[in-house]
Formats: sequence, structure tokens, C-alpha cells
Amino acid sequence: LFDRLEEQKSDSLLQLIALCNADPRAEKIDVGVGVYRDAAGGTPILRAVKEAEKILLETQDTKSYLGSQGDARFVELIKPIVFGEAAAADDRIVGVQTPGGCGALRLGAELIVKANRAARIFVGQPTWPNHAPLIECAGVEMVAHPYYDRDTQTITFDAMMDALEGANAGDLILLHGSCHNPTGADLAPDQWRTIAELVARRGLVPFVDLAYQGLGNGLEQDAEGTRLVVEAAEQALVAQSCDKNFGIYRERTGCLFVKASDARGAGVVMGNLLGLARTMWSMPPDHGAAAVRIVLDDADLRRDWRAELDEMCARIRAIRARLAAADPRLAYIDRQNGMFSMLPLSKEQVLALRDDHGIYMADSARINIVGLSDESVDRFARAVVEKMDG
Ligand code: PMP
Repeated sequence: LFDRLEEQKSDSLLQLIALCNADPRAEKIDVGVGVYRDAAGGTPILRAVKEAEKILLETQDTKSYLGSQGDARFVELIKPIVFGEAAAADDRIVGVQTPGGCGALRLGAELIVKANRAARIFVGQPTWPNHAPLIECAGVEMVAHPYYDRDTQTITFDAMMDALEGANAGDLILLHGSCHNPTGADLAPDQWRTIAELVARRGLVPFVDLAYQGLGNGLEQDAEGTRLVVEAAEQALVAQSCDKNFGIYRERTGCLFVKASDARGAGVVMGNLLGLARTMWSMPPDHGAAAVRIVLDDADLRRDWRAELDEMCARIRAIRARLAAADPRLAYIDRQNGMFSMLPLSKEQVLALRDDHGIYMADSARINIVGLSDESVDRFARAVVEKMDG
């Protein structure tokens, strides 16, 4: 049986991590990894999460099944963070807990296929490399359209809108809610408004991937675009993740929210989500969602989480500002958001940085901003500028 399987290429980012680990140079710099790092280079557990875990350990009195919707209180607490307080009671929006943002994207794709096999999803390029496998695996047809021009470091908005004019009513648009991965280039408020207008006019369905809320410009601000398009749309999906903004990556914690045309339709959607979840993971893992629920249900822990999230956000912004100040050609980095940006370097230049300076970044020249420390950021900028100058 297994002799028929084809060999798979190993994940290039994992290969990059292995290469970096094997490099004996003390001054090596790893800007390849996709997790938040503090000034000391670590990815620590947030104080509020650690506290919530202690409470959980002491107070949890059963490990009995929760059901396919996961932790309902957790979902209820995340809903206003994503959609705003006013939308919290909107009974057209239903949600289920999922194994991370990946689980939410996959579940959303399964729901789309179940609802309408002919629906297509429009996806800007470049995008997070896992989008295509997660969505196409379910059988949704993907239509690629331009999003970002790396030579001019700008969003190719007109080309994007031209492409979206080709979408039919009921087709979907995949949008990064904030902190676009891999480019860092987020839609401006007026661009979100233009998309919201198109969505309403043409009956399109936004599918927002919100994996980094709070790591761009703040928790509220990072949700503004999502709220605009969801409000404008009759129907919408949002794949939410707590893995970055609570720093609980391996706990696989997220939600899929779906907005239906009315409360009755939302009930039907909910039933379908539960049925689909049952066929994939039956129930999501509990621990991360339980810890997040404890944090959000406690005023002090919630305040401390917000403070630490704001610290992470501020560190990202500070490093962005320092890179941008190093050379006019890097000024765009300060106008972008989140952990990632792409440098104006060829693959050859990326490899040369690896050899000459022990600087490890993805072949696409995507860097994780917080792979840099206060100590390494200027050295990194000098090496990059040297390569850009040829
Ligand atoms: N969307 C994007 C754009 C991401 O970068 C990631 C994680 N790298 C995810 C979704 C999924 O996050 P999770 O780890 O919660 O599955």
C-alpha cells in the first residue's frame, strides 16, 4: 500500500531552522522562525496565561468530553474581541472552537464545499503558504489574484479590485485581517471600505483570516477592517487564532465564526459546523481555550494580558522603526504591520547573507521582525544594505 506514496519535500522553514541551529557562529541571526521573540530571543509563556494555567490545574475537576463546539464560554468571550461589543449579541454570528487558526480555515473550507461545491475563493498573492493546502484540500477552487508588488513594496489594489470584479455572487474573498503574512502590507482603511462596498454590491462572502490581532497596531485597531467587511456582508467567515496573541502556539487554540443571513440560518450553519468538526477532530483540544477563558473572565488577568500584548506589539513597532531608519530603501518596513515583512533581496542575496553573515531568512526574503534583538538589529540592517548595494 504505502509503496505507492510519493516522497514529500520537507518543510523549507524547518530546514532553515536546522541549518541555523547547526551554524557554529555566535553572532548568527535567525529571522526565519514564525513565532514572537522577546528581546532576549525567547518565546516565554505570558504571565496571565501562566497564572490561568495554575488556576486551571487547581480548579478543573473533570476531563469529561465537552462536545464538538469546544469551550462555549471561550467562544463567547472571543466574539466581542473580534467583532466589537455591539456585535456580541448578534445572533446571525455563530462560532465554534477549533484547533488553532489552521483548524478554523480548514473547517471553513469544508463548510463552503458542503454549502456550494461551485463556490470559488479569491486569494491574493503572495499569501501564507498553508492557505492553499488548507483550502484546496477541502475541494474549494482557488482563484489567485495580485495583492502585493515586492519591487515597489505596495499593495496592487487596482489589480486586486479588477480581479475581484470577476467574482460571482456567493464566491469568497480570503482577506488577512491584520499583519499580512508574508508581506506585512495591510489594507488601508479606505481600501477596506472599498472592498466592503464591493462585497455588499456583489453579494460576495469575505473569509477573514485573523491570526495576529493585537500584534499590528493594537487589539481594537487590528480588527477594524474585519468588522467593516463582516458588517457589509450578508454572509461571512472569520478564522480566528489565539495562538499568537496569547502566545500559546502548541495549544492549538482558535475559533471559526460564521455570519449567516439571519438567526435561523445561523442555527443551520452551527449544526453543519458541529457535524463537520466531528468528521475531522471530533472535539478541539481543551487546555488552551480553558486558559484563555480564565484570563478573559478575570478583570486583573485580562488587564495583564492586554498589557503584555501591547508590550509585544510595541517591540515589533520599535524594531520596525529601527530597520526603516537604517536606509531609505527600508523605510516601507515602518508602514507595515505584524511580525513579517519581505526584504528587497533576490534568492542569491538571501543565500549570500546566510554564508557571509550567518543571517537566516526564508528564500523569499521574508523576515520575522522579532527575530532581531536590540543588539542585532543594526548589524542586520548593515548587512542587508551591503547586499542591496551589491
Ligand atoms: N493564518 C496565518 C496567516 C498564519 O500565519 C497562521 C500561523 N502561522 C495561521 C493562520 C494559523 O495559526 P494557528 O497556529 O493558530 O493554526
